[in-house]
Amino acid sequence: MEKSNEDALSEARRYLTDLMVFEGAKFVVPIEVKAEKASSPQAVESTVDPMAPAEEVVALVGEEADADATDLPMPATAIVAAADGQAPGQAEEPIADDGNALDIFRQQICDCSKCSLGSTRQNFVFGAGNPAAGIMFVGEAPGADEDRQGEPFVGAAGQLLNKIISAMDLRREDVYICNILKCRPPNNRDPQPDEIEQCEPYLKRQIELIQPKVICTLGRFAAQTLLRSSDSMGHMRGQSHQYEGIPLVATYHPAALLRNAEWKRPTWEDMKRVRQIYDGVEL
Ligand code: URA
Repeated sequence: MEKSNEDALSEARRYLTDLMVFEGAKFVVPIEVKAEKASSPQAVESTVDPMAPAEEVVALVGEEADADATDLPMPATAIVAAADGQAPGQAEEPIADDGNALDIFRQQICDCSKCSLGSTRQNFVFGAGNPAAGIMFVGEAPGADEDRQGEPFVGAAGQLLNKIISAMDLRREDVYICNILKCRPPNNRDPQPDEIEQCEPYLKRQIELIQPKVICTLGRFAAQTLLRSSDSMGHMRGQSHQYEGIPLVATYHPAALLRNAEWKRPTWEDMKRVRQIYDGVEL
């Protein structure tokens, strides 16, 4: 077959595959990525391997905590060291962590009442997923279903996010999902600046603990908050961003996709970019 025909055929195949996206049909890692990974495994590299031994993650946490003291509760490493009779940051042996640091952090903050949402929530919605995830999705705030269940993205928008994740050839438990706010704003109103200010340090800490390869913000609020921007979604998506040195891809909120089906296609382009960064492969 002529080369150009082959190209056209694989383009068409790719297009058809993409068309099925988000509707529970199977999508695969872009063909080019698979081929490239198979032929040159060294193309997949990252400064922080999400599958690295937990000690490495914990060591990073300890260093960060020393360098950047905040008014947050003591990091998990410091607590363990203190419990062992050592001064925080002086643990001789790195502790093994299989999500422990993140879980200890959750326990430290789950009774938060720094803003008024602490008194109206049913549940504190910390986040869910793989504590060593390479991809971290950040939404806006819990809705009614999330507030009831204590888990992010479990309502209608969450169902669509699940489809998007499986369309990326991943499982929900492979990634980490959380929000800018940990508590539901009454009647799903927009997050207020003071609520974001109080809650964002928690997210920052989660990111430090998880060390994802790529952050994907869902919706305008999450992107504007992490990028310190007041740009529209249309301006922010499709551009290269970073948060604290980590690549950040801004895309539409799944709830917005439920109302505007025409945004699914650009969202899929963003998701391919997320997957590409996660794979460490340039298309
Ligand atoms: N919308 C969000 O932004 N987050 C959730 O957890 C659920 C809906």
